[in-house]
Amino acid sequence: MSIDIQQIRSQFPILNREVNGKPLVYLDNGATSQKPKVVLDVLDEYYEKYNANVHRGIHTLSQEATDLMEESRRKIQKFINAKHDYEIIFTRGTTEGINLVSNSLRNVLTADDEIIITEIEHHSNIVPWQLLCQRTGAKLKYIPLTAEGILDIEKLDDLLTEKTKLVCVNQVSNALGVVNPIKTIIEKAHAKGAWVLIDAAQSAPHTAIDVRAMDCDFLVFSGHKMYGPTGIGVLYGKEDILNELPPFHGGGEMIKDVTMEVSTYACLPFKFEAGTPDIAGIIGLGAAVDFINSIGIQNIHDYEKELVDYTIQRLSEFDEVEIYAKDAEHSGAVSFNLKFDGVHSSDVGMILDKKGIAVRTGHHCAQPIMHHFNIPGTVRASFAVYNTKEEIDTFIDGLKTAIRMLG
Ligand code: PMP
Repeated sequence: MSIDIQQIRSQFPILNREVNGKPLVYLDNGATSQKPKVVLDVLDEYYEKYNANVHRGIHTLSQEATDLMEESRRKIQKFINAKHDYEIIFTRGTTEGINLVSNSLRNVLTADDEIIITEIEHHSNIVPWQLLCQRTGAKLKYIPLTAEGILDIEKLDDLLTEKTKLVCVNQVSNALGVVNPIKTIIEKAHAKGAWVLIDAAQSAPHTAIDVRAMDCDFLVFSGHKMYGPTGIGVLYGKEDILNELPPFHGGGEMIKDVTMEVSTYACLPFKFEAGTPDIAGIIGLGAAVDFINSIGIQNIHDYEKELVDYTIQRLSEFDEVEIYAKDAEHSGAVSFNLKFDGVHSSDVGMILDKKGIAVRTGHHCAQPIMHHFNIPGTVRASFAVYNTKEEIDTFIDGLKTAIRMLG
């Protein structure tokens, strides 16, 4: 099926606006995507028609809001092919999902245990594990990068031991757009009896996810990077593991019985969903999944691959441009710098912004990668299904200006 990009673009009101007198070219989708009208509409509709607290009231509005929220959970279950809807836990985003798991492991891990992450993680898949290791005495190990900037997966065999309890890795790097070999990592980790957490923040918007085929133990992602609202995300966990873990937050909704001495906890998923959830956000995320399904995630994947390949091809025309991990498999994003001494990625970003082109510059919350390349940051162009090759040409024209001005 071919996709009608103009029809897709027409669903995103923000794409009609101008920035600095130029049509907006939004290439910062790795930070957050824009939202289609269907998502904006369900947010309004929820507050206009169904606003009530969920899972509590027996009144009609509360039941309608609860039904809509639980329907969203089932949409997400289907989207990632989870076995049960109660394996879908709503969080504020990827960061909170990872913190939920790391905090729940506080009394599970000991000083004898080890966690393996990688040098290509976002800070939200580094800092929670550092905190957990500080609290428990467990050891944190890293899969290193090759000189090119891809995971040196050969090293994993040496890092994995009987002590490894958990391996955490992103499916796609937000800083470089590189696809990581999660299948190999999951197989090797499971062979040692370790659990695997996949950070799917940068893959969920771009590629089909099947948690059962993947066989990951946890998977986290954010709604706002996949056409949904901010403030809502998902933690998937295998039922038996989620049942084994203690809760993260305590409060209303997550209990069975509370006495002044002790509490017992509700069943999944509510054990991990203390307090009033972001009901509108959850319903909005369901609408975002509907939007993706209306195009087809495979169609999105194939189209965006064309955009990424075209960007790498166009950037390769310039001797002045260094593309990071250029020959690796990319998804959704490309990172580069101008090779001029003393020129910072933000210099390029500011010149592009004057032309209405939004890209990300800086360390992308992934400083270990920047340390690896000994650079302060990169320029990152990241894509969504509404981007076009014409926009990439506009971006390349803007880059020519930057090269002229900064060279
Ligand atoms: N992991 C990755 C790979 C990301 O790209 C991001 C967002 N840039 C996060 C984690 C954190 O996501 P959030 O800020 O939505 O919690």
